[in-house]
Amino acid sequence: MKILFLDQSGKPGGAELCLLDIAKAYRDRCLVCLFADGSFRAMLEEEQIPVKVLATSIDVQKDSSTLQGVYSIGRLIPVALEVARLSRQYDLIYANTQKALVVGALASVLSRRPLVFHLHDILSLEHFSRTNQRIAMTLANRFASVVIANSLASQSAFIAAGGQAKLTQVVYNGFNLDCYRDVASQSQPTRQALGFTDPDFVVGHFSRLAPWKGQHLLIAALTHCPESVSAILVGDALFGEGDYVTQLQQQVKDLNLEHRVRFIGFRSDVAALMAACDLVAHTSTAPEPFGRVIVEAMLCGTPVVAAAAGGAMELVADGVTGWLVAPGDPVKLATVIQQCDARPELVKEIAATARIQASQRFDLTAISRQIDRILIQVAG
Ligand code: UDP
Repeated sequence: MKILFLDQSGKPGGAELCLLDIAKAYRDRCLVCLFADGSFRAMLEEEQIPVKVLATSIDVQKDSSTLQGVYSIGRLIPVALEVARLSRQYDLIYANTQKALVVGALASVLSRRPLVFHLHDILSLEHFSRTNQRIAMTLANRFASVVIANSLASQSAFIAAGGQAKLTQVVYNGFNLDCYRDVASQSQPTRQALGFTDPDFVVGHFSRLAPWKGQHLLIAALTHCPESVSAILVGDALFGEGDYVTQLQQQVKDLNLEHRVRFIGFRSDVAALMAACDLVAHTSTAPEPFGRVIVEAMLCGTPVVAAAAGGAMELVADGVTGWLVAPGDPVKLATVIQQCDARPELVKEIAATARIQASQRFDLTAISRQIDRILIQVAG
């Protein structure tokens, strides 16, 4: 079975990192087409996954109006024609993002290849304009053979927005467990490299810097915690959120927290950094479609506190495998941080339970088999 993967981004967000893992299994019989160039291309090449950049920067915003939407679709047509031509050498088209769905739908009609849509988003007004939701829904309902939803939350939102339930199958992201086996040994050296000592209580935030990822909430929570609590913000503004970065830096300055907050930038050694943290905080203000960082923290054996909404609710059992706090509440977040600092034995137990559960639920080998079965059926 030969697969033509489509993704709109040149940068490695969660959807792209998930695709990277899925495509590894098909590296000798697939092509990944990107609609923008960037570091994601290099990551695919490093894994010997064939990749082709089809166009640079097709600018469709998530909050596009109808007119902008129609205009943007017009701009996607040449890309769709190119994909249609390429897809004749493949058994199916696998669209990994919304714009990829638009291109993939047109191409699948032209080349008569089946279309799979991997839904990594919650199709709600918090994330997408009504127009973009309508476009995604209509194309998925009309042209996709299967919609792979990355959580029950994204599946429900798809159905609530008018998507056909019978098309959907929920498949969680998979993680290569080998990458997390010896991660504890990297904890001390990484902590030292970051300049932290044993008594410091380090809270890590791992995400692109974007308002809805809520880094500002963790900074605010620090003001309710003792001086020994510090935070590292790992990640970059991937999609033009420069203003938010400036805002975060100003917030740190205004609160006199320069010595307790570090901006680390985008890193490829997330597991080592997570292992060096005493707690990982997930603070999204809108429901998270899945929440890869939550599972990654669990696999590292680092306790995690997450915002109680969307996919995070399927990943964390409050008080059993981590903690859930109401989204947007820095005081509650600070309370959990302080409880974790005060009760290391309980925290250790919870992190150990989380690690076992996450290894059982999110093993890449099992998840890849699940995806493969779906694709064989579609291509069949
Ligand atoms: N990530 C990374 N380096 C960074 C920050 C984040 O590799 O500096 C990764 C992180 O480990 C996770 C992904 O980016 O795998 C983010 O996925 P998530 O589902 O948490 O959020 P999304 O980007 O899909 O909104």
